[in-house]
Amino acid sequence: MSWGALLFGHADPETVEAVREAALDGTSFGAPTEREVELAEEIADAVPSIEMVRLVSSGTEAAMSAIRLARGYTRRDRILKFEGGYHGHADALLASAGSGLATLGLPASAGVTTGAARDTIVVPYNDVDATAAAVERYGEGLAAILVEPVAGNIGVVPPRDGFLEALRALCDASGALLVFDEVITGFRVARGGAQERFGVTPDLTILGKIIGGGLPLAAFGGRGEIMERLAPSGDVYQAGTLSGNPLATAAGISVLRRLRDPVVYEELERRASELERGLRRFGGVQRVGAMLTLFRPGYDELFRGLVRRGVYVAPSQYEAMFVSLAHGDEEIERTVEAVRDALADDRVGG
Ligand code: PMP
Repeated sequence: MSWGALLFGHADPETVEAVREAALDGTSFGAPTEREVELAEEIADAVPSIEMVRLVSSGTEAAMSAIRLARGYTRRDRILKFEGGYHGHADALLASAGSGLATLGLPASAGVTTGAARDTIVVPYNDVDATAAAVERYGEGLAAILVEPVAGNIGVVPPRDGFLEALRALCDASGALLVFDEVITGFRVARGGAQERFGVTPDLTILGKIIGGGLPLAAFGGRGEIMERLAPSGDVYQAGTLSGNPLATAAGISVLRRLRDPVVYEELERRASELERGLRRFGGVQRVGAMLTLFRPGYDELFRGLVRRGVYVAPSQYEAMFVSLAHGDEEIERTVEAVRDALADDRVGG
């Protein structure tokens, strides 16, 4: 599922057709196009906290730009993130990141200077006391609290009751901006993302994956007053030759328009809970909407056993399984059976 980018499965005919048609008009202009505006409108309609939005080409770029904007807007340097939170591979955000770094056991990446990460404060996810203590200590210099509202890069970890609300209150009290990284959760856990599902409104939101329909596209947006600080209207520079690319926006529009139908999210919930129910026999399952992780010892062997049986899930527990609308009851049943068979095989040493 391309790490969560595909909500209609591989080579979804409508997406392919939208991309084909767009390509006939030109693959890049280096200037805004109507489709860019249409996609922006789809995003703003789904996520009310996004009054203005800027399109970019990857989640990494969106997170990096959102942080620059938060720093420019607040005129503060420090940012607070959470252990295991992955926000792409911009230098300042690689401290204690999850995803591939967690899989490979890297506390940080080589090549990141001490200076680049000096202003990044890291506290444990879901720990309100530690966050409050860090805000107390660094509050006046804190530009933003950056969080995956549902942690997805240490395996799926839902926010504890009150955690996101506490972050909102700490930001209000300290003047830091609350930035939700909804690259995974956006248009997945609800049409309006985790902020809709949990009812907490951030100042800025980072989106990616689903909004590009499997092509390179991401975005960041939020309150107009903050977004206006971006160049060319403001003094925070950001730009990109291929941003809002015609093929990517065409794919994104074709996907997001179909997500206006509430049946989509009812179906995702039903299918994902079906998968959860099936997997529960084999370990601990943590799930929010159509993202879940099966936690159990020996996951590596299980992964290989599944691949041998034609089922390709995330190769690490520090990732999520992503249910799509292309996963019917049969695929879900086959997945659960493959897990059962792979584990039975392992017990006899196969
Ligand atoms: N934020 C989150 C929450 C992510 O999961 C990811 C990628 N998995 C990113 C940012 C970075 O996105 P990209 O890979 O498009 O740079």
